[in-house]
Amino acid sequence: MTKTATDQTTAIDSLEHPLQMLVDGSWIPSISGNYFDVYNPGTGEVIAKVAKADERDVDLAVQAARRAFEDERWRRLSGADRGVILWRTAELLEANADELARLESLDLGIPLPQARGMVVEAINQFRYFAGWADKIHGKTIDVGSAERRILGYTLREPVGVAGLIVPWNVPLIAASQKLAPALAAGCSCVLKPASETPLTALRLGALLQEAGVPDGVVNIVTGSGSVVGAAIAAHEDVDKVAFTGSTEVGRSIVQASAGNLKKLTLELGGKSPVIVLADADLPSAISGIAAGIFWNTGQVCSAGTRLLIHEKIFDEVVEGIAREGRKLKAGYATDAGVDLGPLISQNQLDRVTEYVEGAVAEGARIVSGGSRIGEKGYFFEPTVVANVTPSMRMMKEEIFGPVIGALPFSDIDEAVTAANDSEYGLAASVWTRDVGEAHSIARRLRAGRVGINVHRAGGAQVPVGGYKQSGWGCANGPEAVDAYLEAKSVVALLDR
Ligand code: NAP
Ligand code: MG
Repeated sequence: MTKTATDQTTAIDSLEHPLQMLVDGSWIPSISGNYFDVYNPGTGEVIAKVAKADERDVDLAVQAARRAFEDERWRRLSGADRGVILWRTAELLEANADELARLESLDLGIPLPQARGMVVEAINQFRYFAGWADKIHGKTIDVGSAERRILGYTLREPVGVAGLIVPWNVPLIAASQKLAPALAAGCSCVLKPASETPLTALRLGALLQEAGVPDGVVNIVTGSGSVVGAAIAAHEDVDKVAFTGSTEVGRSIVQASAGNLKKLTLELGGKSPVIVLADADLPSAISGIAAGIFWNTGQVCSAGTRLLIHEKIFDEVVEGIAREGRKLKAGYATDAGVDLGPLISQNQLDRVTEYVEGAVAEGARIVSGGSRIGEKGYFFEPTVVANVTPSMRMMKEEIFGPVIGALPFSDIDEAVTAANDSEYGLAASVWTRDVGEAHSIARRLRAGRVGINVHRAGGAQVPVGGYKQSGWGCANGPEAVDAYLEAKSVVALLDR
């Protein structure tokens, strides 16, 4: 794991230093003048200093967004004109894809080819929602009686100032997934990137300006969640918060937003089940399930972490996934041939280690992995755990690391019951050649998205939301635009 210094300096040098916030079209320091450090999780070294905002900076950004909303500099544009600017943003992302991928891989530690894939998804988000901007329509509704006829119709109007709070695990995608539909709808925005990974969101802010988004329509405030995030969630002039992150913080956002009854979209945690029936195509199931847990070092909300395997094929599947895990080459994000990056931080490394050690103390068996890799950076082995019980902490709580626990089952009802036995309901997958059974299991699972012979697929077009404590509302698809719109009805008395 050698550090490639040139890759690092080239990407980071493309940014202004230290990094400022975007408020009302200008890049400014925080009012306090403080900065915080951003680290490369592959080396533990500081790679950038970023403005550290507090409540006062949030207030400035919200007031800028409010002015932009009230004077209609963005929402008054035709949908087609907003769409042109969003499409241009996609083109600028594409033109700068290499730099963005390098920044993302330095900041997050994800191998460069996978970071490129993330940039492609961010581009897709802007293209997809550019297409929605001029397709936001109401309905006409005839009401009343023969004697008193009423023409009713609905208008879809932007909800106002939207606070967008995103996590560190897919930074550019998460920011794009919120900004693109919010802007398509005509909202003004205050975005707070995660403190661990603010770099690509700040670069995106510059590209949005270059694409022609008017000043004040997109503001980006960097700083800690408990100060900046909480201030956005509580601010009386923010009409809506779209949050992606942990269920625990989601709950605090619900409370903080109660003052002015903000509209909320919450994309929260998961503990997603993976059901493998006895007739599954095993080679393809094994590689698909391994990808579903080990990609991005397991730091994925929808990662398949609870593996339910028919008892007849239990050992073969468990061994197969362990083998796939052992094949992955861990290493520094910009080095060639690397499959697996580090965890994001020392905190995450400690957390993942604790879950695995806790399970072992309760009688679980490590089939493969289970330990930190090396001394530098926060690398952790792809880990498969057997002899688990559903009540172990590692099988109930979200780990956010490359760790999967396997349980056998003997019949399908038992598997579905076990799969649904979770306070989360984000994602699930089922692996079988029996088409009818696959679709009926998909209906029985209490999860916002179900894969059949694939764990995770889709993109900007496919709505994804959480059941149970995995969230409120959806990202992606037309549902994501709806989340930034109000419906107004107008009724008119007709003459005859
Ligand atoms: P997190 O701790 O909940 O933080 C998410 C964001 O909220 C960050 O920007 C964070 O700021 C901010 N924040 C923290 N405390 C806050 C508060 N009191 N008020 C307002 N904002 C606050 O989550 P994370 O550790 O970054 O990300 C991992 C979590 O995200 C996992 O639980 C994962 O399942 C979830 N996730 C869900 C989805 C989905 O689609 N359902 C997708 C991706 C991730 P700081 O960075 O400054 O702390
Ligand atoms: Mg970082």
